[in-house]
Amino acid sequence: MSELFLYNTLSRELEKFIPGSSDLVGLYTCGPTVYNFAHIGNLRTYLFEDILKRVLTYNGYNVKHVMNITDVGHLVGDADGGEDKIEVGAKREGRSAWEIAEFYTQAFKKDLAALNIIEPNIWCKATDNIAEQIKLIKILETKGYTYSTPDGVYFDTAKFPNYNKLSHLDLDKLREGARVEINVAKKNPTDFALWKFSPGGAKRQMEWDSPWGVGFPGWHIECSAMSLKFLGDNLDIHCGGIDHINVHHTNEIAQSEVATGKQFFKYWLHGAFLNIAGGKKMAKSDDNFLTLDNALIAKNINPLAYRYAMLSVHYRKPMEYSEEIIRNAESGLDHLRHQVSDLGSEMGEINKEYKYRFLEVINDDLNLPQALAIVSEMLKSKLSQADKLATILDFDLVLGLDLEEKIPAEIIALANEREEARISRDWMRSDELRQIIEDQGYLLKDGPSGFTLMRK
Ligand code: AMP
Ligand code: ZN
Repeated sequence: MSELFLYNTLSRELEKFIPGSSDLVGLYTCGPTVYNFAHIGNLRTYLFEDILKRVLTYNGYNVKHVMNITDVGHLVGDADGGEDKIEVGAKREGRSAWEIAEFYTQAFKKDLAALNIIEPNIWCKATDNIAEQIKLIKILETKGYTYSTPDGVYFDTAKFPNYNKLSHLDLDKLREGARVEINVAKKNPTDFALWKFSPGGAKRQMEWDSPWGVGFPGWHIECSAMSLKFLGDNLDIHCGGIDHINVHHTNEIAQSEVATGKQFFKYWLHGAFLNIAGGKKMAKSDDNFLTLDNALIAKNINPLAYRYAMLSVHYRKPMEYSEEIIRNAESGLDHLRHQVSDLGSEMGEINKEYKYRFLEVINDDLNLPQALAIVSEMLKSKLSQADKLATILDFDLVLGLDLEEKIPAEIIALANEREEARISRDWMRSDELRQIIEDQGYLLKDGPSGFTLMRK
């Protein structure tokens, strides 16, 4: 049996994956801030996390996956300043903060479905877990790790000895940066807000009572509170994009480990960026970001071509977006689909040798580019069509490319009708039915053992 190795950002090394409990792997993936559509950069991170989850499942683990929805508290400014992103979205669109959050949450779920990303077992919203966040802040306060400023309650990072264990940053240098710090009331530039007060005199759309005053939670505390609530004793893997390493995840670790006295997640995995031309990160704050809708669906490109493109590059390797990459992926995926539908429908046995080789590369820190090479080698091999079909459909449990043709019953009925017309030499009717089938997006091919159907 091949063992699973994952690159742990904590140690900066490939580590053998050993879950804390034998029967359940807890996986927490930081979810979207729902003030706008997800861009395809964000979706790259969710695709990497989906692959990770599928690889864990393929290895026989039972995965409990939790994803949060950030619907309050994520501020525009880096230093706990600026407006709440959700309220910015609300103003921009003339809707309430609650409506904005709900609208973009639904849009996000639609994107996940289009990319064949398996939904988490638990979705959780920051606004549904305010009491849990307040409880956690109270523990930190009792333990002496917090202090108040005129705008909120902060975590004192200087009191947590290993604050840089994830980021590996030079803390002295960071703290020297205090001179350029905007928030002068903070004791250390790395300190962060646990609870922010509603601005004096102004009423926010989203605000709650707390022991410290009316306000809202800081961004980082939600992920600590919800990880601990929903994964409790199964704090195995925590993921996000690499931009979360230095601040968000570092702060989650500090506050959670102080509160519980235990290690907060054993494995930390981070996906590299999707960049725009020139190596700049695609960001929601740039107005011209690309979404699944405008970059693919509007151009009549199957969203799964994007999934395929992301499988072709290792998740820790930065990638520069270009339309060419997507077009190449589109033809790559089409080719693969044709190869699979040419295999016919007879199901054979999963080939053990190829399965083992596939497992070895996906278990080598999710080497999907290599896995795709094995797929193509297997399809060209001397295996029987039926065994190839069984093997590729097994691999597709990880690839998630929807390679199993699901032809609707009405199309099959049309094809059967055409087959009858053909046998009775009614060529006109036969051609007419073929055309109807094509118009509905399917190709019909005649072969020695009858017809085959596939999506165009
Ligand atoms: P956000 O909605 O901004 O909180 O980000 C959602 C997820 O997308 C986080 O895990 C980020 O780290 C990740 N992310 C943001 N920008 C990019 C990008 N350009 N490429 C890949 N992942 C990204
Ligand atoms: Zn998070």
